[in-house]
Amino acid sequence: MAKTRSFQSMCPMNCHPTLCGMTVTVKDGQLASIAGDVTNPDSQGFLCMRGRAAHEILGNDRRLLKPLVRSRRGSDQWSETSWDAALDQIANKMQSVGREAVGLWQGHGNWANDYAFGLKRAQMDRFANLYGCQYWNPAMICWGLGGFGAGITGAIETSTKEDLGENSQMVILWGANTVSQANTLRHVEMAKRRGARIVVIDVRRTEASALADDVIIVKPGSDAALALAMMHVIIADQSWSASFVDAHTTGFAALKAHVAAMTPDWAETLTGVPASRVVALARAYAATRPAMIVMGGSSLHKGDNTWQAARAITCLPALTGDYGRPGGGMGPRHGGRSHGAGFVDLSAADRRKPGHYIPNQMEAILTALETGTVKVFVSLGSNVSSSFPDTNRMRAALEKAELVVAYDIFANQYIREAADIVLPGTIWLEEIGAKSTNTYIHLTDQALPAAGDARPVYDLYKGLAKRLAVDDVYPWADQAEAMDAALDHPATGHTSVEALRANGGRVALKVSHVAYPTYDFATPTGKIEFSSSRAADMGIPALPMPVDFGGTKDGLILAHGRTFGHFHSFYDHAQALPTLAAREDQADLWIAPQDAAYRGILDADPIELSNARGSFNARAKVTPRIPKGTVWIRDGWPGLNTLTDATSVLPLAALDAFAFSVGQSSYHARIEVRSLRNAGEANL
Ligand code: SF4
Repeated sequence: MAKTRSFQSMCPMNCHPTLCGMTVTVKDGQLASIAGDVTNPDSQGFLCMRGRAAHEILGNDRRLLKPLVRSRRGSDQWSETSWDAALDQIANKMQSVGREAVGLWQGHGNWANDYAFGLKRAQMDRFANLYGCQYWNPAMICWGLGGFGAGITGAIETSTKEDLGENSQMVILWGANTVSQANTLRHVEMAKRRGARIVVIDVRRTEASALADDVIIVKPGSDAALALAMMHVIIADQSWSASFVDAHTTGFAALKAHVAAMTPDWAETLTGVPASRVVALARAYAATRPAMIVMGGSSLHKGDNTWQAARAITCLPALTGDYGRPGGGMGPRHGGRSHGAGFVDLSAADRRKPGHYIPNQMEAILTALETGTVKVFVSLGSNVSSSFPDTNRMRAALEKAELVVAYDIFANQYIREAADIVLPGTIWLEEIGAKSTNTYIHLTDQALPAAGDARPVYDLYKGLAKRLAVDDVYPWADQAEAMDAALDHPATGHTSVEALRANGGRVALKVSHVAYPTYDFATPTGKIEFSSSRAADMGIPALPMPVDFGGTKDGLILAHGRTFGHFHSFYDHAQALPTLAAREDQADLWIAPQDAAYRGILDADPIELSNARGSFNARAKVTPRIPKGTVWIRDGWPGLNTLTDATSVLPLAALDAFAFSVGQSSYHARIEVRSLRNAGEANL
């Protein structure tokens, strides 16, 4: 008789802060079905096409199931080996180069059943701290710069989607497309049904625009200028909240003087937004209480100094007195947390072995590889070959490493080009884990045995620690016991794996739905800082500043973002999952009709994107949904970052301002585009 069991799990992609629940049915030890979990309070049964495509991970003939080694990089000649032999080889090399010449990097793929719970992250960090090797905080590649800008103002915490849906009278989706916040969207729709005004600000007409009462298209990088001009209008109109500004902010006089010349006309030249619309937006925002700004997590902050967008935008709710007010302030943001959220940190950071450590900065990592300071590079669930800027530089830097190791579930560009050893990882259904939204912690119980020789990532640390004689790396009997240690926190009500199982797989976090309910802001003064002496001490401007990408320079400004068909480099950029690969079989570049016509480009033409750093082939999507001068492309295509700039955004003095890392490179790119239609040279 067939034995059927159902498990509550979570989608193995990481659309934080929402994340979607799934019900997994296993029949006779095989996956029978995946469906949206209707009991999940965050996602309420929703699964997007990426979540539904997750069943294609199972039984996929591209899956990595054996440890592999090769003697020559770039060749396709891999040999199967054992975990023991692979770990011996890695540990021997680590010993021969010395611990400070070993670097560990982990990415989203390593947290498919761990995102925002962070235990697997902490376990890698724990190994690195106790052993004494290099590791870097990967927030630098994602939301770190946005968090930095918000943090300098003092507004890192975010209010929840539930607060937005119930209380906001105006919602500004600022650089926040909803393809990565599907469950926030439901609450935006709820607010709209109540009569809330929805405004979308972005560099193109995104999917979220369909919901908007007002869509404002800005030039890439000019968001700070728009926010500063809004402050100019609010101050000139005397419509700021004097009581909030007096009680909870510092630097208002300096801000007032600073924005005096930042008029709507001034902003029009930088943003491309007509001055009259800047005035109307500022007045509507100042007049509507409460208003919540949902700020983009990552793409908004890719470009020279675009952290200033977050710095300037987070000043707005302080002018209107919206922080601490239900329905006001800053809404859900990737990487953001609710007031009171947290888990026990098991990374043993206080026991980090003394050593010479390379800063949390992309430029520093590249240089360390280039100079041979790092000789062994281990990547877990990531593809640095595509996700780091200036691909050619990263490729050359990895070439210099003496040993390059990958732990993953599908081969990707990094593995194909650079790796010497590949270790096969378990997928989200083959191990126990947990994922956290801003309101719940959700258990993802093991539903299936590991396929082939796939193993959970902590077996890698345990195996290396044993060979390198590093104590206390994994002091738990199993992963459930480690989870219990991390869950033993006031925010979870000191829950445990067993308690989660008994409670239907989740508990509500003991958090405030409203950020900063006690007005204790995360700055040295404890207030919102319009002017920041901490920033000045780091050598960056004390006041929020506009960023000018230079509208008169040659070339088109390349903007990046997310689509429904992928999530970062997961599953070899989604190309390993047939449903997603069929939907997006190649890179489409959005280009305005005027820019296309000027270059003789027709819709669907094969095209070449190029600049002094390199080139990348794509297909033209000629559309009026993007303005002249800007082009847009889905991020993460292998080779796309050949075009982007690896110059550091923030100085070293700024890197340790917060617990997360902010050492992102600019990723700025101006490009030219030409049609390959008649060239007979398309090579897509
Ligand atoms: S929105 Fe994100 S978390 Fe939800 S199903 Fe889709 S990919 Fe998964």
